[in-house]
Amino acid sequence: MLRFPQGIGERTRKAMTGFCLKTFIKSMTLTVLAALSLTTVAFAQEAAPKGADAQKSAELQLVLATPKEVYDGQPFLVRLTAGQPMDKVMVYWLDREFSPSITVWNNRHVALVMLGTDVLTIKAGEQELVVVAIVNGERNTFKRKVRIIKRKYPTQRLTLPKKMVSPPKEEHERIANDRKAVKAALETISPQRRWLLPFERPVSGVVSSRYGLRRILNDKPKNPHRGLDLQGEEGTPVKAPATGEVILVDDHYYAGNSLYLDHGNGVITMYFHLAQALVEEGQIVRRGEKIGLVGKTGRATGAHLHWGVSVLGQLVDPEPLLENTVGTLLAQ
Ligand SMILES: [Zn+2]
Repeated sequence: MLRFPQGIGERTRKAMTGFCLKTFIKSMTLTVLAALSLTTVAFAQEAAPKGADAQKSAELQLVLATPKEVYDGQPFLVRLTAGQPMDKVMVYWLDREFSPSITVWNNRHVALVMLGTDVLTIKAGEQELVVVAIVNGERNTFKRKVRIIKRKYPTQRLTLPKKMVSPPKEEHERIANDRKAVKAALETISPQRRWLLPFERPVSGVVSSRYGLRRILNDKPKNPHRGLDLQGEEGTPVKAPATGEVILVDDHYYAGNSLYLDHGNGVITMYFHLAQALVEEGQIVRRGEKIGLVGKTGRATGAHLHWGVSVLGQLVDPEPLLENTVGTLLAQ
């Protein structure tokens, strides 16, 4: 298991991964909202492993549910269930591996896993998902192809003061340090799954900028928007969407006062531009608990919350996690 050392946030700084801005033209937002379809193209497939593992798996009543197709940037769920206790489950996805929590529900032993891809880096095509269940000391291996489909995320053009797009030289070292701290935070994979769906909305305000927007700042293509901007007056409370541990609280060049929560099994949420963080590193927060106040610190043009979700280091769209239960997300 990778664990993130306490206190690193106080020593180091990082750069946020996307450029966060309050939405500036209302009409553009409406166009964007209209253009984005929230439906996914994932169809659940449930099956036993192929070949030598198949018969053994049938006896153990091992069933793996995975999507066949997903849009880039969209989170999805994988669920392995067994009729008897599993010693261990291993999941391999996009060069990362981890062992998810196993829970018991209705006499079934269940490993529920959240996965996703990052709109910045993922390419269209098939990715292999491997799930290994160890039962009575024996390995049962499932291999699945998941097709990644590129969604046409809208383009957003912005004109901004030059220093907001290209940071001055004297800030480069700080930005590099910010990046290191964030990378370490996003590599955290803690063994206990604490997240449940749906997530609680961190701020009640409307969405002002969606995930995936392709941003062109002062005619230069920049990274797509890899989070969800929620409107809120300065000082509006920000709530934890799920139970988790505070793993990083820091002031970063782009993200301003920022906060990272670890919800277990590789799911991390992040909160940028806060006026203030109300929790400390190492603290456990419950779903719905107040963790900070909306602000406009860092490179933000106005008060709002930039909310990000990382799954095994892939920055995914937070919005489906507000709208779905485990059942509806698995059924897509
Ligand atoms: Zn943002």
